[in-house]
Amino acid sequence: MTAADDCLFCKIVAGEIPAEVVHVTESAVAFRDINAQAPTHVLVVPRDHYANAVELAEGDPAATAELVRVAAAVATAEGHDDYRLVFNTGPGVGQTVFHAHLHLLAGRPMTWPPG
Ligand code: C5P
Repeated sequence: MTAADDCLFCKIVAGEIPAEVVHVTESAVAFRDINAQAPTHVLVVPRDHYANAVELAEGDPAATAELVRVAAAVATAEGHDDYRLVFNTGPGVGQTVFHAHLHLLAGRPMTWPPG
């Protein structure tokens, strides 16, 4: 596993910072967002450290696909047929944690475009 110093999500993956983990696989960990924006708001992260989704896709395409599979499994487990998957990429669009993470949002009506 590759981890980065002072990376919050690396610490959650390592179990050094508590999180409400809902699903784990060999390459991914899913946990509830502490500031939920929907009834289901789960973050799916690769175990290895990549700063964003593009770096993850370039470095580990299989792990990128795994994030989507895990998000879909969590959505199904929580009873959602419809859901939104989001990779914020860059501070200008709201990325605040620079360890790739897929937001799974579901359980309320949503509008498009997002704010
Ligand atoms: O896409 P962005 O980088 O903004 O997403 C980071 C997410 O991580 C936020 O939704 C924030 O609520 C969440 N977070 C968390 N647990 C922490 C710190 C941040 O779930 N300890």
